[in-house]
Amino acid sequence: MATEKRTLIIGNWKLNGGLAENEARFKAMVAALNGFQSIDIGFCVPYPYLFQAQQELAGSSIMWGAQNVSQFEQGAYTSCVSAKMVAEFGSTFALLGHSERRFYTDESSQKSVLRIKRAAEAGITPIYCIGETLEEHHAGHAQAVVAAQMQPLFDLDAVTLSKVKKVGMVIAYEPVWAIGAKEAALPEQAQAMHAYIRTLMAAYDENFADSMRIIYGGSLNPQNAQAMFAMPDIDGGLVGRASLRAEAFKQICEASLV
Ligand code: PEP
Repeated sequence: MATEKRTLIIGNWKLNGGLAENEARFKAMVAALNGFQSIDIGFCVPYPYLFQAQQELAGSSIMWGAQNVSQFEQGAYTSCVSAKMVAEFGSTFALLGHSERRFYTDESSQKSVLRIKRAAEAGITPIYCIGETLEEHHAGHAQAVVAAQMQPLFDLDAVTLSKVKKVGMVIAYEPVWAIGAKEAALPEQAQAMHAYIRTLMAAYDENFADSMRIIYGGSLNPQNAQAMFAMPDIDGGLVGRASLRAEAFKQICEASLV
């Protein structure tokens, strides 16, 4: 079992929002969440709204970040957004390798890990999303899939690794079959995979494995969050739908304090 860490709860707003809608949502979140000083809370918003997030959330205890960064630093890469650009708007986090990116744009683990490198270089904490599909789950391949997704991390060079350690690595275990679904994974199921992920990392670097936060994502809600957060290797949550509603998100945060 890993040592105690500050719980991390991240909202992933995905492709939702607009200036007016966000303004109301940011204000509702600040009002609902400003009292949570003992846990880390953040929202990953669409790129165009990073500036708005900075305007609305600066001065509160809530952090913000992006839903991806490019593997390139700069140059002729139309539509890409670099980690450095994201950092200029005060971002703390970036999601990398989210299953929706893997599915819709064929993002590989190798490419995601290059992006982790760019994020760390820019001082951004990477939240690396991994998890098996329903078919892989039913075929009994969940651990093998997760191990393969983790593998490129172990090829990071020493300089990059020390930068990643400095910004603090986060793994989000998100079984794809539980994302946007009716039911989350069972807490025991998620715990077993989180412990496995930590073991994989420990074989590579024990201290890093111990300090790394592993958060769970996939249909977290106010009803299931408490049982999930009670698990010893679940260090927080990545929340999609419920992060669009201040009251539900607040209840998920409260569940981590019980
Ligand atoms: C997600 O896609 O990261 C996610 C966790 O979504 P939801 O909470 O809606 O399942």
